[in-house]
Amino acid sequence: MSQPGVQLVSQDKIEFIDLAAQQSRIRPLVEKAILKVLDHGAYVMGPEIDVLESQLATFCGAKYALSCSSGTDALLLVLMAQGIGPGDAVFLPSFTFPATPESVALLGASPVFVDVLTDTFNMDPASLEDSIKRAQAAGLTPKAIIPVDLFGQPVDYDAIEAIAAAHDLWVLCDAAQSFGAKYGNRHVGNIGLATATSFFPAKPLGCYGDGGAVFTNDKDLLDRLKSIRVHGQGVDKYDNVRVGLNARMDTIQAAVLIEKLKIFPDEIEQRQRVADIYNETLGDVVVVPKVMDTATSVWAQYTIVLPDQKTRDGLQAHLKSQGVPAVVYYSKPLQEQVAYKDCYIAGQNLDRSKYLSDRVLSLPMHAYLTRDVQKRIIAAVRGYFE
Ligand SMILES: *Cc1c(COP(=O)(O)O)cnc(C)c1O
Repeated sequence: MSQPGVQLVSQDKIEFIDLAAQQSRIRPLVEKAILKVLDHGAYVMGPEIDVLESQLATFCGAKYALSCSSGTDALLLVLMAQGIGPGDAVFLPSFTFPATPESVALLGASPVFVDVLTDTFNMDPASLEDSIKRAQAAGLTPKAIIPVDLFGQPVDYDAIEAIAAAHDLWVLCDAAQSFGAKYGNRHVGNIGLATATSFFPAKPLGCYGDGGAVFTNDKDLLDRLKSIRVHGQGVDKYDNVRVGLNARMDTIQAAVLIEKLKIFPDEIEQRQRVADIYNETLGDVVVVPKVMDTATSVWAQYTIVLPDQKTRDGLQAHLKSQGVPAVVYYSKPLQEQVAYKDCYIAGQNLDRSKYLSDRVLSLPMHAYLTRDVQKRIIAAVRGYFE
């Protein structure tokens, strides 16, 4: 039973993502785990790294998991290991976090933007076909696809994998938001040539700083990734057989993640419960997110779509006045970002990415959202339309 006083405090301020509630659930275990690292002193590549990697691989059914410094570096590691460089086209959605195109652009390759579907927010296979033709016409060499499992739901991988096979492209899944989700009977992490995920604190599975991981079933790729993670090392880090990075995860972050992974399945269930309640109570006033029959979502975000920008901005301001934080992910499609405005785009256009940028709004979503607090959020949303 929670104490009335404590409950009052947590009811007063509504968190968008309640990391404090999660921490209080596991605090003694996390403290013990961190103290253990302080005791053994192997701050870099300590024993917790191996333990975490094998637990992560088991969790998603991938043969190999490689921990690293962030989700961005996880993407970069794979692209480097695959030799992506100038003249190569890598296809990715125009409605995503900038880390996705950044990893491609950093290597001098060309990110080619693909439009998304308005109901799942994920890469549109038809637009992907278009982009491949367009990239070829521009003299680029199509190499890879980075589908992004936006807001926690896997992309329609059957469709994407068919296109990849037809054009001899490989697939790097950006699962920064979807680790823990399933597509058919495959877990995210066990799809494509490799999968990159992020353990940034606000992601469904987060650490207490930056962290990420790569998953693959390909042993040769794993060996290249391991080398690149530590300065392109050969027999050791002072033997450099390729250009690499310093992309290791801190041992302390691994220690934290080992504790968090234990409660992750329960948290995924709680997130689904929160999403179910939103779906049931908001579906008649706003467009609620669609999850494909073939997939599950881990609900990195619960994102609704409003009829136009004015209504979206009005609702966001109204919610703020009611003490309900709501955030726009993402207010600009990538083709409108200064850094990426000259990138190649899909053959037709990227209208649906633009459409969503003007209309989406993400509501508070986390495993510790109580029914009472969620009722207040729902009442606030519905109140705007009454
Ligand atoms: C968060 C995120 C990343 C990057 O992860 P970091 O750990 O912050 O580097 C990449 N892609 C997507 C879709 C993300 O949401």
